[in-house]
Amino acid sequence: MNFQAPKGTFDWLPPRSELVLAVREALSAPARRAGYGYIETPTFEDTALFARGVGESTDIVTKEMYTFTDKGGRSITLRPEGTAPVVRAVLQHGLHNGPLPVKLWYSGNNFRYERAQKGRYRHFSQVGIEALGAEDPALDAEVITLGLDGYASLGLTGVELLLNSLGCKDCRPAYRTALQSFLRGLDLDEQTRARVEINPLRVLDDKRPEVRAQLEAAPLVTDHLCEACKAYHEEVRALLRAAGVTFTDDPRLVRGLDYYTRTTFEYVHGGLGAQSAVGGGGRYDGLSEMIGGPPLPSVGWAIGVDRTVLALEAEGLAGGDERAVRVQVYGVPLGEEARREMFTLLRELRAAGVTADMAFGGRGVKGAMKSADRSGASYAIILGERDLAAGTAQIKDLASGEQTAVPLAEIVTTLKEKLTT
Ligand code: AMP
Repeated sequence: MNFQAPKGTFDWLPPRSELVLAVREALSAPARRAGYGYIETPTFEDTALFARGVGESTDIVTKEMYTFTDKGGRSITLRPEGTAPVVRAVLQHGLHNGPLPVKLWYSGNNFRYERAQKGRYRHFSQVGIEALGAEDPALDAEVITLGLDGYASLGLTGVELLLNSLGCKDCRPAYRTALQSFLRGLDLDEQTRARVEINPLRVLDDKRPEVRAQLEAAPLVTDHLCEACKAYHEEVRALLRAAGVTFTDDPRLVRGLDYYTRTTFEYVHGGLGAQSAVGGGGRYDGLSEMIGGPPLPSVGWAIGVDRTVLALEAEGLAGGDERAVRVQVYGVPLGEEARREMFTLLRELRAAGVTADMAFGGRGVKGAMKSADRSGASYAIILGERDLAAGTAQIKDLASGEQTAVPLAEIVTTLKEKLTT
């Protein structure tokens, strides 16, 4: 039998997988510095949470969910996105009854039955932040800048911010009606005409050139905002400008999830081809009520870890050293007694903060030295029978080839010294 990872999924392997860890760390660090606490929710939830929370008419819910009935007869869905589960957890545990906003960050895998292609997978990883229970333009601006800070700390320079406002429950219905009557006059296929009736804003997101061409004259949401939404959006823009953030107003920016209100944004990268969105988010003031909670105006984003790695590679920031330095010291034990001694030495080295590995499997000195070179180590410890008898080991500088005998009791301090100078 020859198993392969399922279609639309793949494995992250070393050394490239180091980038995944680095991206998760870099994207979450700014949020942690801003008082966001870590939340972890289950990988699966009640199907109804996503049906209601993400929206019955969205592609995610109608086409892309991994849904199954469990052995207890419950309809379960693998998490397609992170926000609805976070809101569910906040409501379930009453976090919204404490100080507001509740600030949370998460990191996890999502599942969507998508048309698999570069940058679009059926299993992908996101880091996300959510700030729940406050309506404040400064909070929107904080959330947006925290994402940009994460990208910047990775050294990425090609991330652009697209910004829009989708209005609120007071002004969006009138816009929706205006958009609908415009869209009804276009030459669209049956499926898209159905979408016009259910979720007209999503039609603006259609990527097909024949549809795009007809959308040129579509009414823009920004021309239909109520005074409160207009003022709110202006304040978010002013705060971003004050923070030195460059952004592009994109009045056609809508997102694939129904719950967004007011501030909506996307982080895009020019080096990724068709799948240019590296992250996105916005305000979702109505989501809590959609899933049975009290009003809880909130804002957040989710950033794709996999696509951020692709962006790093597109900018040549991925290192490129196939060997990737993995350990500083590599042990070469020759014989059984030496192996025992080396095992202990390695534990002492690691406890002292030195990264270390050794040759396993009773290999000869030639094969073991080859592994030492491949490990990227600066020093090898070679321990043979004669060394053992003398109570010493050879420390070999793998760059210069220079080799010196050092008493076993001084190996750790000697190596530590050599590695810090
Ligand atoms: P969304 O949850 O759809 O707003 O997506 C937020 C971010 O997650 C996107 O900007 C992408 O970076 C990433 N993402 C969404 N869907 C996929 C997917 N199928 N494969 C890889 N990354 C994805």
